[in-house]
Amino acid sequence: MRRQYKQKAQFSKIAKERIVLLLEEAEKVYPEHPHLSHRYVELARKIGTKNKVRIPSLLQRKFCKHCYKFLMPGKNVRVRTHPGYVVYHCLECKGTMRYPYRKEQKAKKKS
Ligand SMILES: [Zn+2]
Repeated sequence: MRRQYKQKAQFSKIAKERIVLLLEEAEKVYPEHPHLSHRYVELARKIGTKNKVRIPSLLQRKFCKHCYKFLMPGKNVRVRTHPGYVVYHCLECKGTMRYPYRKEQKAKKKS
């Protein structure tokens, strides 16, 4: 039993590494092959759901949570800042996502 648990932990570690690699690769290929980067996002999400691994929050911003297309600032996403949060407008599906940045603001107040 113990061995199984260990194996599981290893699998999720590998899965996480693959997700990071896929999303990095998606960013690289986007200028030439945007459809490929959308495919990489799909693969990364599949790996995540199969292995029950969460995609790191910073990487979650790299794709649209509505249509799951890869987002490249200046190409298919409009990024606007507001006090306390950032808004991402996906130009593929016209969806919006809000990301608060309270932590950074708290740090600023302290200093
Ligand atoms: Zn979208």
